[in-house]
Amino acid sequence: MSKILKVEPISVSYPEPNDNGSIRNLTLCRIETNDGIVGWGEAISMWPEACRATEVIINGMSDLLIGRDPLENTAIYRDIAARSWWYGPEGIAAFARSAIDIALWDLRGKISGQSLITMLGGAVQTKIPVIASTHAFSASLEDEVKKHTKYVESGFQGVKIGLGKKGEARLGYEFDRDVNFMKMLRESFGPKPDIMFDRGQHLRWDASYATEITMAFEEYDLRWIEEPLEPWDIQGFKHLRSHCTTLVGTGERCWSTDQYRRLIESGIVDVVGCDPGRVGGITGFRELIGLVEQSQLWFNAHAWSSAIITAASLALSASSNRCLLFELKPIENPMQHELVEQPFWHTDGFISAPNRPGLGVEIKEAVVQKYRMR
Ligand SMILES: [Mg+2]
Repeated sequence: MSKILKVEPISVSYPEPNDNGSIRNLTLCRIETNDGIVGWGEAISMWPEACRATEVIINGMSDLLIGRDPLENTAIYRDIAARSWWYGPEGIAAFARSAIDIALWDLRGKISGQSLITMLGGAVQTKIPVIASTHAFSASLEDEVKKHTKYVESGFQGVKIGLGKKGEARLGYEFDRDVNFMKMLRESFGPKPDIMFDRGQHLRWDASYATEITMAFEEYDLRWIEEPLEPWDIQGFKHLRSHCTTLVGTGERCWSTDQYRRLIESGIVDVVGCDPGRVGGITGFRELIGLVEQSQLWFNAHAWSSAIITAASLALSASSNRCLLFELKPIENPMQHELVEQPFWHTDGFISAPNRPGLGVEIKEAVVQKYRMR
């Protein structure tokens, strides 16, 4: 029987070309067994101080893992979740739990010779449509339309563009200019490819503005509007949803099944955003999928970090028919293309869950060390 020998949190800092070259940070978790099998997990901890805090919590929780059989991953998950009862099961503790949980599922698959999708009970969707998940950087919207049209021509089945992001594009600030951008995209793409917008943190829209602009985008067939308002603005979301037919996405900031249950019960969401690197790993995400399936809503994986999260998100997405599409970052980047032996990419606009043991990614440890946070 394999036993857990070592639990090591490793935060990384890396330039993200899909975010205008800005430095982003993550906390990986490397768990090794006494017979030399290694599992990898990830928390989308983002800021350096959150990365350091996540490392401290993972190190602190490691006594609940050392000496245990990694095949007992759900029991271990329950134990580490229980440990944080006093300092709060959400926030940093959820990051730590997420990274540990994903690494344990990876180990369980490697030990048993099963892929994650097999452990989840098999693929309900054998191939999922892929869209390019992007930010716009250029001051010239014509250039941005050309750039995004190239993505669609290369096989992506649509685009999701972040508004209010870094760079010169300044999308999300001027009503007429934004609507014109949507019009130009639709005219360039033709009728079929999906177009979605995701309001960035720095934009402050109120309910009437969000409703008006979503209705204007709707003229050109917007698939969904994501995070149009702050998550606590329940009345604002209700106003928006009563005026628009476009799907509304929100939820990526939730930490737990309890929060997701309240979100779904509030009736403000069509597409529930979720990241295994935040919600409690594969175990936490699975619980959300159960809620989404019961409610006949949709979920969408917020997979915008490393190939570890992409692998986990992909299997989870394929395990249910309540997932509409899968996002890939279109520009080659360190945490996807350098980190693993076989980077994820679409084939003719579709992607399938990996069929190799565990998460199905082979991590290059030298790359982890290269980007290790100093
Ligand atoms: Mg988003």
